[in-house]
Amino acid sequence: MRKLFRAAAAALTVLAVLAGSGCSQSDAGENVPAEGGGIRVVATTTMLGDLASVLGGEYISVETLMGEGVDPHTYQASAGDLRRLRSADMILVNGLGLEGRMSDVFEGLAGEKTVVAAGDAIEEDSLRFSGDVPDPHIWFSVPLWREAAEYVSAELAELDPENADGYAELLEDYLAELDELDGYIRERAASLDPERRVLVTAHDAFGYFGGEYGFEVRGIQGMNTSAEAGTAEISALADMIAERGVRAVFVETSVPQKSAEALIAAVRSRGGTLEIGGSLYSDSLGDGEDAAYISAFRTNIDTIVSALSGEGAAE
Ligand SMILES: [Zn+2]
Repeated sequence: MRKLFRAAAAALTVLAVLAGSGCSQSDAGENVPAEGGGIRVVATTTMLGDLASVLGGEYISVETLMGEGVDPHTYQASAGDLRRLRSADMILVNGLGLEGRMSDVFEGLAGEKTVVAAGDAIEEDSLRFSGDVPDPHIWFSVPLWREAAEYVSAELAELDPENADGYAELLEDYLAELDELDGYIRERAASLDPERRVLVTAHDAFGYFGGEYGFEVRGIQGMNTSAEAGTAEISALADMIAERGVRAVFVETSVPQKSAEALIAAVRSRGGTLEIGGSLYSDSLGDGEDAAYISAFRTNIDTIVSALSGEGAAE
């Protein structure tokens, strides 16, 4: 009797372990285009999910943990995320501290899984730092994102050498598209008067963008959204904006709008006329066409140029 009970208990334990370890694939997440692809990639952000899908094509399936509009700085892995991560062949992360609350999870998985950090593609000389802390927002510079693409593609080919030629072809096509996007952003940015190229955004995500495309960049919040902007910072920023006649502040789809509203009030109290210039994709891509990096970043530069030049209607 007792033995039987033990056996039953053991069987239950095995079932629980199986369910917990993600051996059943039926409980995977929302984004599961699992058909065809042999290699299972689990990506953290929407930018990385898009990158993997484009570079892996039919050879892989991709799941993205963070949905549209989700802030990666504060994101914590759910139990379902952990299952997905454990069942992945490749875990694709940004690194450089972006997924700050998941770093323990990735470290724990690094021994048993292929964890690829896009940030590792970037030479230290090309990174921006705030003190010792690297700026993780590398996708804002198309040339840097190009390096990330080459790196991720090489990692896919290493994991799945049989399809190496296929990955190389997909990469070549995508690099051409990225070069076209880069040219488009440069051309649009150059259409703005140099003194209008001041980009004030909800958080300090646009540093690489500013460096690459010639914008002076100011974030209301810092590089990491976990720390809120203080009144002293808002006040100093409002002084600069009023003095220089900056027309627009941009909100971001992954950051709440309230600090931008506080800034607008502060600028107006100084006699300035700041408005919300529109919403930019920063740490998350959008939906529809803008679920793709290339389309989202075209939308971004169009929104920026239209608001800062004063030619377009602000949102
Ligand atoms: Zn950010």
